[in-house]
Amino acid sequence: MLGKTDQAKYPIVPEAVEFVRERRLTVDELSDQSYTSILDRAENRLRQAIETGSISSEWQDDNVEILSFPVAVYLATILHDDWVRRRFALAESRRASRFLANENLDRIIEIASKTFDWKVDHSGTDMNKGIQTLRINFKNYVKNAVRIREPKWKLTNRQLNNGFVHVSKDEAARLLEEEIQNRILSRISETVAEEPDFLRERIGRLRNLVAERKGTGAFWELPKAVVFTAIPSCMRNLYNSVESGRHISHAGRFALTCFLVNIGASQEEIMRLFKTAADFDERKTRYQVEHIAGTKGGKTKYTPPKCATLKTHGLCISPDQICSQISHPLSYYRRRIRPTLHKDRKHARS
Ligand code: SF4
Repeated sequence: MLGKTDQAKYPIVPEAVEFVRERRLTVDELSDQSYTSILDRAENRLRQAIETGSISSEWQDDNVEILSFPVAVYLATILHDDWVRRRFALAESRRASRFLANENLDRIIEIASKTFDWKVDHSGTDMNKGIQTLRINFKNYVKNAVRIREPKWKLTNRQLNNGFVHVSKDEAARLLEEEIQNRILSRISETVAEEPDFLRERIGRLRNLVAERKGTGAFWELPKAVVFTAIPSCMRNLYNSVESGRHISHAGRFALTCFLVNIGASQEEIMRLFKTAADFDERKTRYQVEHIAGTKGGKTKYTPPKCATLKTHGLCISPDQICSQISHPLSYYRRRIRPTLHKDRKHARS
């Protein structure tokens, strides 16, 4: 049985959900002064998610921490913005993941089985690494691992026994992070919610913050010189993921940055794109973009990985007929852009 502090750490566990349900909290009640601290923390959860992609792990009062979570979900629903939905779900799941990393195996098993119905158990000791491991039913494993792009998560790269996959504690926590993120996403309704008068000011502040965070309120646009229709589906998929606030792997981020640098996007334009990403870190992103563009470090401009490498990272998505004739995404772009350039030259001559 998870106590109050655990419920504050993991407000999606059944005990926390039951605690909230028993309070029978209504929207009208939230306008009462006695709920100000809960509303403040709920707004703060969203503010931190929007600004930093992460939510603080400190709190004063267990009850406020537990109750502010569903209120934050409610505020996110009112904001009705897919980028906010994803960013909030990611930030909350990361907060939970930080706590999970310090739990023992029994607590991880308890949370996973009671909250998400996982079939999970102790599986002994990994003699090579000298660590205790868990075994997770392969369906529970696949459902979450499929969203993590690194090759080590592929089922073919795992030890599978009698329908169970063996994982370390850290890996189980990582899989739970995906599960939590998904659960939170499903709790933020996509339908438009009415905005009560007493929340207008808070919602206004959050809306301004979202507009600020996304730049001037408008999403990043590719430089005029870039022909969007000439970009291969792998890069378009990465670009769309970043723009809509979805998480992309390190390999995906690297490939997309290299690609954009090579087709004429400036560093500032690339920074503006990543600014909309759910887990944007300005300092880290700038460092990476500058190194990839060759303006810092080794002064070498990187090119994106070849198609074969992108395939091994699971980043080759929906290849088309041109893909069968090239081995590099930049070759794809050049091939698609050739008729456009040709047409432009003809116009220039006439
Ligand atoms: S074949 Fe190459 S260019 Fe085409 S989608 Fe796959 S990785 Fe991209």
